[in-house]
Amino acid sequence: MGFYTPDRYFSRVSAIDIQKDILDAGFSHVLLDIDNTIFTRDTHEIPRDVGLWLGAARDAGVVFCLVSNNWHQGVHDLAKRLDLPIVSHAVKPLPPALLRGMRKIGAKRASTLMIGDQLITDVLGARFIGIKAYLVCPLVKHDLKHTLLLRNLEQVFIGHLQPEGVSCEGAGFEMRGKDKMRCEERACETGRCEAEGGRL
Ligand SMILES: [Mg+2]
Repeated sequence: MGFYTPDRYFSRVSAIDIQKDILDAGFSHVLLDIDNTIFTRDTHEIPRDVGLWLGAARDAGVVFCLVSNNWHQGVHDLAKRLDLPIVSHAVKPLPPALLRGMRKIGAKRASTLMIGDQLITDVLGARFIGIKAYLVCPLVKHDLKHTLLLRNLEQVFIGHLQPEGVSCEGAGFEMRGKDKMRCEERACETGRCEAEGGRL
């Protein structure tokens, strides 16, 4: 895909096949965004399928570094909970923090993948340092005001793209209660998060 479009576009991280889309695609290291990629902006939680996916990916040997523009203590607490390295206050899409994240986990460009929910910060950041990028739909619609403004701009570039993976009615759009449960269960049913022994 082009400079302003992701290499792949998924409905959520658990729709990314760990073996096929990451390991077999030549990636061993992943720079992972936090807010609305693995952690909901509104309720501040890691959805079950996302947590299981993360555990299964780590068990499969994928090495992660969290890279977030967020600078609050909460992201550090999360990193500690997940036992993952983190670079916060990253100012993505600028390269320094992404490069710092790569250094932290001994990553090489060719085998490193960026995964995040924003085109302007995550995908563009990956482009600037010459690595591949998978975009995911935001976990929930709720986000910071300036992020929501950027999302409107992003639609110019990705509005025509259909995300791959489990079709969750309204993925990224205020899924609540039963709908949210159903979506997470469907992700599990497809085998995306069958590793019940995940780290979370
Ligand atoms: Mg994000």
